[in-house]
Amino acid sequence: MVESTHEANLQSQTLTFKAETKQLLDILIHSLYTEREVFLRELISNAADALTRMQFILLTEREVVDPEVELKITLIPEPEKRILRIIDTGIGMTAEEMIENLGTIAHSGARAFIQAVKETQANPNDIIGQFGVGFYSAFMVADQIEVISRSYQPNASAARWYSRGQETFQVEPAEKTNRGTEVILYLKEDANEFTQSVRLREIIKKHSEYIPYPIYLGDDQQ
Ligand code: ADP
Ligand code: MG
Repeated sequence: MVESTHEANLQSQTLTFKAETKQLLDILIHSLYTEREVFLRELISNAADALTRMQFILLTEREVVDPEVELKITLIPEPEKRILRIIDTGIGMTAEEMIENLGTIAHSGARAFIQAVKETQANPNDIIGQFGVGFYSAFMVADQIEVISRSYQPNASAARWYSRGQETFQVEPAEKTNRGTEVILYLKEDANEFTQSVRLREIIKKHSEYIPYPIYLGDDQQ
């Protein structure tokens, strides 16, 4: 399944999504779902989980990358480029962890969602709101997603995950010196609203009110 894409960079791998992930992506990409704004709740919740795990590790380990850095979530919208970045200083991921965690749907409500679509023959657009479909929900608003991460483990290297949400994803070494994860959403043409600060503030207030870490929008704490 693993094949090398660039001869010049033997460490770059293109991997194929599992069948059920493909199924989910297909539904999400063609989704007309009106509450697609929930993608932000999912990404912020992943960031918060990564921060909580980091907090625990910091209780017992001092040999970590950036031991003193603030545990926080930062959103950086770039309207001219139609990009939204979601950055955290959490636990981070190694390349292997990216392949494991961002190639399958083992953890999230996504599996329950697919099951419900199959079993009830329901229109996915009508029921998707009842499930936390996790990371992949970002493909409702983005046609390309890049994740750049550096694990808290001092000897792990940074890695980059990239996908257009179709058959495959790519994982390769990356440059990132500080701890944590940056998710870069290349927003769909009709999703520019998610680079508007007013809109982002509204979504954070509605769906992420009880996140126990500071959420910055640009330089402003929310
Ligand atoms: P869930 O959060 O229910 O486990 P998701 O699809 O939202 O499912 O995320 C899949 C996995 O990817 C997470 O369990 C986690 O291991 C990893 N992950 C996602 N986002 C981050 C992040 N910002 N930092 C570290 N790991 C992450
Ligand atoms: Mg999640």
